[in-house]
Amino acid sequence: MPNKKHMDTAAIRGQMERTDYREHSPALYLTSSFTFPSAELMAETFAGEGEGIIYSRYNNPNVDEFISKVCAMEGMEDGFATASGMAAVFASMAALLQSGDHILASRAIFGSTHQILTQVFPKWGITYTYVEPDDIDSWEKHLQPNTKMLLLESPSNPGLALVDLEKAGQFAQKHGLIFNIDNCFASPVLQQPAQYGADLIVHSATKWMDGQGRVLGGIVVGRTELIEPIRFFCRHTGPAMSPFNAWVLSRSLETLSLRMNQHCVNALELASTLEKHSKVNRVRYPFLPSHPQYELAKKQMKAGGGIVTIDLNGGLEAAQAFLNGLKLCSLSSNLGDTRTIVTHPASTTHSKLSAAEQAAVGILPGTVRISVGLEHVGDVIRDLEQALG
Ligand SMILES: *Cc1c(COP(=O)(O)O)cnc(C)c1O
Repeated sequence: MPNKKHMDTAAIRGQMERTDYREHSPALYLTSSFTFPSAELMAETFAGEGEGIIYSRYNNPNVDEFISKVCAMEGMEDGFATASGMAAVFASMAALLQSGDHILASRAIFGSTHQILTQVFPKWGITYTYVEPDDIDSWEKHLQPNTKMLLLESPSNPGLALVDLEKAGQFAQKHGLIFNIDNCFASPVLQQPAQYGADLIVHSATKWMDGQGRVLGGIVVGRTELIEPIRFFCRHTGPAMSPFNAWVLSRSLETLSLRMNQHCVNALELASTLEKHSKVNRVRYPFLPSHPQYELAKKQMKAGGGIVTIDLNGGLEAAQAFLNGLKLCSLSSNLGDTRTIVTHPASTTHSKLSAAEQAAVGILPGTVRISVGLEHVGDVIRDLEQALG
């Protein structure tokens, strides 16, 4: 499209139409339903396959604004916004798969996604096989005649393993799989999987998109023919995003690019500094030359993201002492906030995995995940250094 605007402009100017009050910043439509001037128009709107605004479980101007902005930023045609990231992840699979279908999934996927694959889908006869995210050549032998979807996440949480998106796109196309990717860690600012043939992109908007730890939200965007059944599934099962959250998130998107760029600057400086620290055994960050997939990261990401994962000498004990010593940084399970957040995955977000399963996705007893915030990075590094002792 010749008039396609840059993502930064779309995030700001892709706002909904003004009301008769000519408000500059978009209004909040905190209403569960909408009225009709006549019975005929009401009947017509209901007949129109839900195109018109009827009821906020179906659609709402604030939610539509959020969807259209994310579609523009990801370069996708259509989408549906949900109450949380997990609702989007679940709907992107449950709406399209049937009993007997099989999913090829990266082993390094989000903890609750792992729970869906292992604990929820077996009830409905949907099966999965885990593959190694950094070894696409080994994927083919795990395909089954009933494999329908390729489910990926890159970079992964918290191991920061990357999937080669170009090769993954070719693999999905060759084998006729729906290419579904959780792009939460990179955000559309750093990586646009649609360029590599992704069919569906899911996000936890709770993280970088909100960016200030206020609201939960999720979204799935993709090709129209895949979003249509997802929209039908969501409209009738009810994981709708609240208008208020959509309004907050649409404002947040206006600064996503600015914030992500600074998160990345801070994260790279923090990662480079900690790499030299004697108590830190290893620092994982996609834009550090020591990352095993550094060249790939440079190829498919604009910058390394806001998460730095470190492995402390001294295992669990050292990790807990480090967390307890922090004065500025927060201990919390969230990420993607202006405030730097430090988490110990083995004992919290990933504690449901066995030690072997944890190790397989790069989580050791001494692994600590740092979501680098927007405080002055010098203050954050000083806090981490004093807690390392
Ligand atoms: C947090 C997260 C989710 C889940 O999102 P919620 O908004 O918490 O439901 C999914 N994927 C990734 C990569 C996440 O970090």
